[in-house]
Amino acid sequence: MRGTARELIGQAQATLAAAGIESARLEARLLLAHALGLEPASLLLTAGTVHAAPALPGLLARRAAREPLALILGRREFWSLDLAVSPATLVPRPETETLIEAALAARPDRGAVRRILDLGTGSGCLLLAALSEFPAAWGLGVDVSPAAASLAAGNAARLGLAPRAAFLCADWAAPIAGRFDLVLGNPPYIESGAIAGLMPEVARYEPRRALDGGADGLDAYRRIVAALPSLLAPNGVAVLELGQGQALPVAGLARRAGLAALAQRSDLAGIARALILAANSSPAAATGKKTFGVAARDE
Ligand code: GLN
Repeated sequence: MRGTARELIGQAQATLAAAGIESARLEARLLLAHALGLEPASLLLTAGTVHAAPALPGLLARRAAREPLALILGRREFWSLDLAVSPATLVPRPETETLIEAALAARPDRGAVRRILDLGTGSGCLLLAALSEFPAAWGLGVDVSPAAASLAAGNAARLGLAPRAAFLCADWAAPIAGRFDLVLGNPPYIESGAIAGLMPEVARYEPRRALDGGADGLDAYRRIVAALPSLLAPNGVAVLELGQGQALPVAGLARRAGLAALAQRSDLAGIARALILAANSSPAAATGKKTFGVAARDE
């Protein structure tokens, strides 16, 4: 393709809109910038400049086939951090940032958070965002996928966080013996039977292992809450991502595993997205039990 930036954006927008892509103009701009190796902002400054963009048709075809934009660009921003992404992991989602907000609210004593664990780290987004906010912390990211663990390690290095981060390829917390001040996790939580009906970007291109939570969507939480009592430091909190409608069932599982559900935090769509847990013996547990009194009756 060849034309001024303005013309190329218009053509790309038309192609994407015809394929049913919602933010066609924005994505057209981002894909053209990527095809030309330019920053999107500098592209706009030269809207009248003529460009040859031989890579653009291929990129548009991939997006029209519903490959996620972030996978085509190879990057995604999370908590203002620029992360490399790959088909090995979930693309970081804006709603997952709710977990960082929840962690900051649950641990206002930022300097006291020294050890952070991220279960199912994927791209490393949660661990690296947390390390950027808790300056005295060292963090361990665990993922069952070697490709995910190495992607996360690369992201840590690019962000200058490698000296405070380590990554381990393991089945949840199986080999881990230490205790942590903050445990994060965005486990797979979609019911197996619902995966085929997700957006094509998710169902076709994201790793099933990162999505599939078993028949009722709760399998990974069962594993995680069973491990948490021996992973949490005395003042430690765990912040887990939830799928829609999972706050009460996951709080119930946690309680039966001997944990206290302290609070939940909603994302921008108003969905309870983060559940904050602590050991029953932790000082915060008494207040938290009151918050989830209703949940206890609903189990
Ligand atoms: N939030 C993702 C989705 O709805 C799923 C992420 C997950 O299973 N942890 O597509």
